[in-house]
Amino acid sequence: MPTVNLKSQLNILLQLQSIDSQIYNCNEQKNTRPKEIEVLKLSFEEKKKHLADLEKIALDLQKAKKDAEIELTSKEDGVKKLQGQLYSLKTNKEYNTMLQQISDGKADASRVEDKILEAMEKMESSRKDVEAEKGRLSQEEKVFNEQKKKVEEQLKEIDEKLSQLDAQRKRIVPEIDKKILGQYERILKNRDGLAIVEVKNDICLGCNMLVPAQVINLIKMYDRMITCEVCNRILFLNDEQA
Ligand SMILES: [Zn+2]
Repeated sequence: MPTVNLKSQLNILLQLQSIDSQIYNCNEQKNTRPKEIEVLKLSFEEKKKHLADLEKIALDLQKAKKDAEIELTSKEDGVKKLQGQLYSLKTNKEYNTMLQQISDGKADASRVEDKILEAMEKMESSRKDVEAEKGRLSQEEKVFNEQKKKVEEQLKEIDEKLSQLDAQRKRIVPEIDKKILGQYERILKNRDGLAIVEVKNDICLGCNMLVPAQVINLIKMYDRMITCEVCNRILFLNDEQA
């Protein structure tokens, strides 16, 4: 088995990491973007429910008005009936009692008329509320649909990019020693898509912790892969530092 040139392997790993970082970002977006649409959808559904509530109020008012109209007709019929009987009465006492009943009936009818007028006023303002809410909702729906379409297009682009990245990855991977690749991929999976990091000014750029001098010396020997003692990522030095 030919000995691997670790330095050149690390350079290829860096290229692979650049691809894998993009893949990681794409997958993050694939996870988070649909949730944005979910949030918008929920808020849109809430508003739809609000409109339904307003429409229910409008219906209730209509029903209240109709009931009051029926009540008014019945009161008016009652008054008419009493008025018809008025002249068949024998005594003054009966006559006066009935006059009082007629007057009471008219007062009742007048109160019901007020109720109808009140209901009509409320209906008018309720109708305006419903219209305004419908307008707002249709605007919301437009915005929601546009946003949804935008995200769907972006997700499609992400999928296209992912398949390109995957093809790039497949071209590079055969150049990497299987053992090295295995270790890289394990770290990649466990460390948020970042497996190989630079050591700059003695600091690991994966976890921002200090890398001891003896570890840096080990990296410079290119004898085996050296990982950060804190975050476990593979460490490399830029040419100027190495
Ligand atoms: Zn580290």
